[in-house]
Amino acid sequence: MKIVDIGSNLGNKAFRADLGAVLERALEAGVAAIVATGISVPGSRHAWEIAEARRARAPKIFSTAGIHPHHASTFGADAVVALRELCARPEVVAVGECGLDFDRNFSPRADQLRCFEAQLELAAELEKPVFLHERAAHVEFTKILERHRPKLARAVVHCFTGEAEALARYLDLDLHIGITGWICDERRGTHLVDLVRRIPADRLMIETDAPYILPRDMRPKPESHRNEPMYLPHVLKTVARARGESEGALARSSTETAKAFFAVDV
Ligand SMILES: [Zn+2]
Repeated sequence: MKIVDIGSNLGNKAFRADLGAVLERALEAGVAAIVATGISVPGSRHAWEIAEARRARAPKIFSTAGIHPHHASTFGADAVVALRELCARPEVVAVGECGLDFDRNFSPRADQLRCFEAQLELAAELEKPVFLHERAAHVEFTKILERHRPKLARAVVHCFTGEAEALARYLDLDLHIGITGWICDERRGTHLVDLVRRIPADRLMIETDAPYILPRDMRPKPESHRNEPMYLPHVLKTVARARGESEGALARSSTETAKAFFAVDV
């Protein structure tokens, strides 16, 4: 089995002490490639450094370059210059993560909107895929994407946690969907068990969003609350069961989808 974790925060301080061991465990679990998420200019540089340092070793590491809505208040003209420069590096496979998060509003909404649109423009200019984040902002997010979608190559709504209406709208907009261990959460993710059936195989990818979103139903429960890419097979199993298909079939289709989406070889 060969699977791709399309979103993992490998640059997070939770992995600072033992990233090498984390990646070895991921490889043993069948994770052939990981896309390290960039969440700020320094964070994106760090994600790229991890990818670059691991070049030619397994699992393959790629990265994204972008500014998460939580960090949108740090955004300025120099940020676009820095992101454009990072995007020229071969390990950087997408712009993002970028989007809107009106759940926590760590950055003011006006800053989030400006920062998001600038990154969509950058992705269009560079003809790169976009790695999108949306939380509690479905209406505004959709409005912006409707305007930009025709100019974008490919775009994935990562860690989709929304309702049926949002999913239908995103599929209409020809977006890809990333599913995390949120689907394993019996308190707030059970609606996804039904919804993942509606995602065409060539638009569905899987991710851990590690170190966040440790699947709640893992038994035995990992001692640490830290999520890791090695738990991606648990997400795969849950999504496959929900879709009524084999783990092997979903592993193959989600890997092919990720390879085509990020234009990488795995
Ligand atoms: Zn996110």
